[in-house]
Amino acid sequence: MSTRNYAIHNIQHRKYHFHPAQLIQLCYEFKTPVFFESAFSRLVETRFHELTAEHKQMMGPQVFQAVAETKEILDEHKRIIACEPPIITTHARDCHDHNKCNDDWYAVWWNGMGRLILDGRNPLTFDEAFKRFEVLKFGRMSDGCKKDMLRLVKGGMGFSHSFTCIQSIGSKLAATLDVEVDI
Ligand SMILES: [Zn+2]
Repeated sequence: MSTRNYAIHNIQHRKYHFHPAQLIQLCYEFKTPVFFESAFSRLVETRFHELTAEHKQMMGPQVFQAVAETKEILDEHKRIIACEPPIITTHARDCHDHNKCNDDWYAVWWNGMGRLILDGRNPLTFDEAFKRFEVLKFGRMSDGCKKDMLRLVKGGMGFSHSFTCIQSIGSKLAATLDVEVDI
């Protein structure tokens, strides 16, 4: 194994010990995209005020701008998800009042998921918000409908979007920057 590959291997192995901005800089230095996507995702989850001038310098203006744009896309997506609960297309057998079931699903979604993912003081990821949401009381919803809808939401309805979005922006960006291996 060459010295370069050995260094890359070691950094990859300990990537969580590095600040993501530093990892981006190392991608440039070693001309490798190996830690790029993961560092990019971590930067998107980092609050701007936690980034020092040095961090910004390490990642460079292009990556900084892409992080800002990705954050904006995800914020918009969050607001859409918060306001638009998935629709109950088929009610379960034990559901006897579809209207009340729909009303309560909508109300619990807005007061639960909506509030949890939009909470500015304690912003939660979709997964964290879902864990708190699924144990709430669902009013007049039937058990069957509640179970079906939670399964639908958990199955990635809308939620996988944020992960895929960050990943695809990260990999496209890595391809446009000068971080490819020059052999
Ligand atoms: Zn129902």
